[in-house]
Amino acid sequence: MTDCPFCRIVARQMPADVVYEDDAVVAFKDIYPKALVHLLIVPRRHIPSLVDARDGDADVLGRCVVAARRLAELTGYADKGFRLSVNTGPEGGQVVYHVHFHFTAGRRPRTDA
Ligand code: AMP
Ligand code: ZN
Repeated sequence: MTDCPFCRIVARQMPADVVYEDDAVVAFKDIYPKALVHLLIVPRRHIPSLVDARDGDADVLGRCVVAARRLAELTGYADKGFRLSVNTGPEGGQVVYHVHFHFTAGRRPRTDA
């Protein structure tokens, strides 16, 4: 899966600002942040999209969700709150076909000033 950018980040063959990792998931900063804090949580295993998820993927996908709580603690947003979202498929706005959870928190940065 060397043509998958997120597999390359997981394998440390491509640079990324990794903020958290464990045996199942890696979390890193989104290069085009759409919120004050914008992180991506990816399973180490290549699953192209949520429509490809199988029963056997439940554990690793659950680990991504639990990692969001760790990121909330790390970034100081556990109490203030955050958003976790998964774009899926062409009409769901998915661009990178390696399942990823967007962790966003804080105000959207101003673009007009
Ligand atoms: P999606 O539209 O849900 O597929 O989101 C893909 C996200 O990945 C976008 O928010 C991009 O800014 C982000 N992205 C793409 N390539 C990289 C990369 N090499 N490192 C960090 N974030 C990336
Ligand atoms: Zn991949």
